[in-house]
Amino acid sequence: MYDYIIVGAGLYGAVCAHEAKKAGKKVLVIDRRSTIAGNVYTEKIEGIHVHKYGAHIFHTNNKKVWEYVNQFTEFNRFTNSPVANYKGELYSLPFNMYTFNKMWGVVTPKEAEEKIQEQRSKAGITEPKNLEEQAISLVGTDIYEKLVKGYTEKQWGRDCAELPAFIIKRLPVRLTFDNNYFNALYQGIPIGGYTKMVENMLEGIEVRLGIDYLKEKEYFDAMAEKVIYTGPIDAYFNYSLGILEYRSVRFDTEVLDMPNFQGNAAVNYTDRETPWTRIIEHKWFEFGKDENGEDLSKTVISREYSSEWNVGDEPYYPVNDEKNGALYQKYQALAENEKNVIFGGRLGEYKYYDMDAVINSALEMIGAEL
Ligand SMILES: Cc1cc2nc3c(=O)[nH]c(=O)nc-3n(C[C@H](O)[C@H](O)[C@H](O)COP(=O)(O)OP(=O)(O)OC[C@H]3O[C@@H](n4cnc5c(N)ncnc54)[C@H](O)[C@@H]3O)c2cc1C
Repeated sequence: MYDYIIVGAGLYGAVCAHEAKKAGKKVLVIDRRSTIAGNVYTEKIEGIHVHKYGAHIFHTNNKKVWEYVNQFTEFNRFTNSPVANYKGELYSLPFNMYTFNKMWGVVTPKEAEEKIQEQRSKAGITEPKNLEEQAISLVGTDIYEKLVKGYTEKQWGRDCAELPAFIIKRLPVRLTFDNNYFNALYQGIPIGGYTKMVENMLEGIEVRLGIDYLKEKEYFDAMAEKVIYTGPIDAYFNYSLGILEYRSVRFDTEVLDMPNFQGNAAVNYTDRETPWTRIIEHKWFEFGKDENGEDLSKTVISREYSSEWNVGDEPYYPVNDEKNGALYQKYQALAENEKNVIFGGRLGEYKYYDMDAVINSALEMIGAEL
C-alpha cells in the first residue's frame, strides 16, 4: 500500500517524507507522540511559540540546507547571544571582550590576552589530569570559577575535578566585541514556529499520530516496501544487547503576568547553587512580538534542569563514551541485516545532530535511495 512507512515525524522523517512524495512515492508517516515535529515542536502559549523540548536556534554554514528550509518557512533575524548570571553578576557569552571588561576592567584585546596568560601561568598546569585543570589551563581561574565550573558540574551532575579532561577540548575565547554565539553564516528562528515549518514539509502526506510502530510492527511492515525508522535503535531490537544511555533535561515552564522577565532569550546560571542550568524566555526568540507585530503583555519562561536519564524518560543527549559507542556498533551490525529498514536521525543513529546536520543527513540518504 505504501512505498515508505516513516517512523517519526521529526526533522529527519519529515525531510524523507517530503522528498519521497516529491519523487512520486506513496508515503505514510507515523509518530507515537500526539504532535508532529519531534523535538523541534513548538507550542503556542499566550501568543508565544514555546520550544517544548528545549530552545532550538537554527544555524548553519550549509547553503544548500539553508535554501532547503527556506522553502518551508521564512526565518527571522534572531541571533543567539546568551547571558551568564553568576550570583547576580551578568557576563556576555561566549567569552569575549565584553566578558573580560566586566571581569577584570581590561579595555584592549592585548590587555585581555595578557590577563588570561597571567592566570594560566599562575595555575602552572602543564598536563591537565581532569576537566578542572583542563579548563584552567585554557582560560585561567577567574573565568573557570565564575563561568565554567558550576554550569558544567550541574550539566554532568559531578565535580569538575572528577570529570575527564577530554570533555573540554577547547573553550573559545574571542578577543572581539562579538556576542553572537554561533559562527554560522545563516541563523534564525522560523517565523510562526518550527511546528508550522514541519507542517509545511508534510503537506499532502498522510500522517498518523499517537501510534507506536514497535507495538504494531508486523501490521505496518506488511503495508510498506520499506521502513525509515527514526526511533531509538536499541528499542527497535527490544534492548536485546543492552540499553544505550542518554543524558536528560527537565523543563519547568511557567506563564508570567509581566511583559519582560529577563530581557533575553537565554540566561545561563553559572553558579553551582542555583539548581537550574538556564532560563529560556521564549518570546525573545521572536523579539517579544506576536504574529501581528503587537507587543505581548505576558511572558513564558522555562527553567532547564540537567538530569539523569532512566529508561522511559525522554532521551536527549547520547552519552558518547566508549561503552555506549561499542554497544551502538553492535546494534548497527544488527541493523545492517534488516534489509527493508533504514535507520536514521538522532535516535536511529545514536548521535547528537544539530538541525542542519540532521536535515543534510536525511537529504543525502533519501537522495541516494530514490
Ligand atoms: C535540548 C536540545 C536542544 C537542542 N537545540 C538545538 C539548537 O539550538 N540548534 C540545532 O540545530 N539543534 C538543536 N538540537 C538538536 C535537534 O533537536 C535535532 O537535530 C533534531 O530534533 C533531530 O531530529 P530527528 O528527526 O532525528 O529526531 P526527533 O526530533 O527526536 O524525532 C524522532 C521522532 O520519532 C518518534 N518515535 C520514536 N520512536 C517511535 C516509535 N516507536 N513509533 C513512532 N514514533 C516514534 C518520536 O516521537 C519523535 O517524534 C537540540 C537538541 C536538544 C536535545
